[in-house]
Amino acid sequence: VISTDSVNPYRVVLLGAGGVGKTAFACIFSGAADSMDSDDCELCGGKDSEIHVDGEAATITLLDTWDNDGECAQECYMQSGDAFLLLYSITDRSSFLRASELRITLRRLRPAQHTPIILVGNKCDLVRRRQVSTNEGRTCAAIFDCKFIETSAAMQHNVWEAFHGIVRQLRLRRDSK
Ligand code: GDP
Repeated sequence: VISTDSVNPYRVVLLGAGGVGKTAFACIFSGAADSMDSDDCELCGGKDSEIHVDGEAATITLLDTWDNDGECAQECYMQSGDAFLLLYSITDRSSFLRASELRITLRRLRPAQHTPIILVGNKCDLVRRRQVSTNEGRTCAAIFDCKFIETSAAMQHNVWEAFHGIVRQLRLRRDSK
């Protein structure tokens, strides 16, 4: 028997510098998940999709942000999101620094909340262009008190693991309430 998590969808927000792979993540997500009627969402028009994680369905509204939309738009997403995939590209150190800044802004806007966050090092297929080591990513995630994963949207490697991981964290939080 498959039960559904919640009537209200979880709002999962993609954060990160331009060019790190947010759109690629959103494409993989919307291509494979069962899309349902899009909800009228004032921020973005994000689509609700149902995915199955550990035999249980979860409804997710995936919100893609654009780094150059300005501080205000990003802050709106940060305040309204339930969980965050914080992306950088392993080939671009400045995007790694941007992820740190975004984490700090998140902490400021969502104090004293166990907000599910996964730090995602994308483009791990580009081994020869790597500028940020796996260890640096992992250490940063530990300092920021969030999970860590390296992915390749191009190779569709670990992308679903990231989405599933965020659903598991949301459920842990739900079940501990
Ligand atoms: P966004 O600005 O964060 O939405 O980034 P995009 O999803 O538009 O990706 C920027 C560029 O990086 C595009 O040309 C993508 O095809 C490419 N890209 C995204 N993810 C990967 C990846 O995992 N590996 C490689 N090699 N390229 C990627």
